[in-house]
Amino acid sequence: MNYQSTRGALFARAPEAVLKGIAEDGGLYVDPSLGERPFDWRAALALPPLAMQSRILAHLLPGFGDMDALVAEAYAGKFETDALTPLVRVGGDYLLELFRGPTAAFKDVALSMLPRLVTAAKAQTGDRGTSVVLTATSGDTGKAALEGFHDVPGTRIFVFYPDGGVSKIQRAQMVTQEGANVTVCAVRGNFDDCQTGVKRAFAALSGSEALRARGLSLTSANSINIGRLAPQLVYYFLAYAALVREGRIAVGERVDYVVPTGNFGDILAGWMAKRLGLPVGKLVCASNANRVLTDFFETGTYDRRRRLLRTDSPSMDILVSSNLERLLFYVSDGDTALVRACMDGLAKEGCYRFPEALTEKLREDFAAFCCTDAEGAACIARLWREQGYLCDPHTAAAVFAAERFRSTRTDDAPLVLLSTASPYKFPAAVLAALGAPAPEDEFSQMDALARLTGVPVPAALASLRGKKELHGDLVDVDGVIPYIEKKLTEGV
Ligand SMILES: *Cc1c(COP(=O)(O)O)cnc(C)c1O
Repeated sequence: MNYQSTRGALFARAPEAVLKGIAEDGGLYVDPSLGERPFDWRAALALPPLAMQSRILAHLLPGFGDMDALVAEAYAGKFETDALTPLVRVGGDYLLELFRGPTAAFKDVALSMLPRLVTAAKAQTGDRGTSVVLTATSGDTGKAALEGFHDVPGTRIFVFYPDGGVSKIQRAQMVTQEGANVTVCAVRGNFDDCQTGVKRAFAALSGSEALRARGLSLTSANSINIGRLAPQLVYYFLAYAALVREGRIAVGERVDYVVPTGNFGDILAGWMAKRLGLPVGKLVCASNANRVLTDFFETGTYDRRRRLLRTDSPSMDILVSSNLERLLFYVSDGDTALVRACMDGLAKEGCYRFPEALTEKLREDFAAFCCTDAEGAACIARLWREQGYLCDPHTAAAVFAAERFRSTRTDDAPLVLLSTASPYKFPAAVLAALGAPAPEDEFSQMDALARLTGVPVPAALASLRGKKELHGDLVDVDGVIPYIEKKLTEGV
């Protein structure tokens, strides 16, 4: 029973935690002994990428059987390079390219793995039913989850995305998805509305006898699921190992990481890697104009009572960063009453105040900066002009934050910027940043960007052209639950 809820004394083994996605009390599953059980991070660092992933996952998620085999199946032939996530030197810094997988965003690293974990967990727990994967997406999780779960036996996947809240390419990726077990639906509202609809569906349906009688159980492909979070630690190790290999650092020296952040999953994985011993210095939380996390780290008050702004980095247009809850648990030494009080405050009043002493403790590990679309666009243009490197608007937030952060520190430890998506997922914004006119439709935009920069279009995006739209449904937030029920009745 090495997992427990962040909100109270609910315990689960790792396979159960992955199958449930979220605890019955609404909390997220955490391993309270993370960092206390011995983990030989130096040995892990010396392994090739897949063996490294297997070593880390076997430590975080015991009880899944042959992890080497699961990892091998998950990644075979899916990524552009054997390095999985190449580290590219740009100017004096390093960009960690997390978007070389099948859907051109960082979510592929974890969502290639999650279906294997779900299938293995079912085998380990003797669950012969169907896992219904509910997913809310701010743009990239949806496609990566569809790519991972489509036609996986024993699973059924639902993806809900905010209508008008994702880029046209992101939408095209999702609504053209084939597969017999796949449902994609737009929700009127923004990502937070979408996430609320899905969380309510969890609350309403996860205990449902009617579903259980039909062998259906719910789980999540969002980073609230520990099975989605755990596979994200590996690239912090991979980047570190690459820096050692190229002689930039010796093992044991500090590396700072800058992470474009929305739901706080990616950056939390970095913090977990640090807890396992990896010499991570500061984790720099880079937000867009939705600066709820920047304000939190500055003031200790988390306040979602503001309008969600639509920005050029839609995958970070989030006001409720779910995974922060796990961090609050850890930094308060597992004070579940405190975490519950904070989350109740957030749900009921829209805000909470975290104790000052603990916020100060968080500032030892985290720095936080935010940037506007205009500031991000300037970063895209400058990086292209000065370094010949083309980045997307999410990565641009990291470029901006890295500059700010550099001016606050005194040494020259390497800075690794997580590059979370291909610029071709957001061609309109990238063309505008480069001062080039953007044609009307998204495929012409991709072409224009490729002509202008000579950077090749990822095959997975180029092949979307001309694909048929298969999913056109649209519901209100209140319609999410009836929609799921209806679809499940129509058959699995
Ligand atoms: C999801 C996403 C993010 C934010 O990651 P979180 O884990 O939600 O903080 C940043 N950039 C891109 C491109 C993404 O798809």
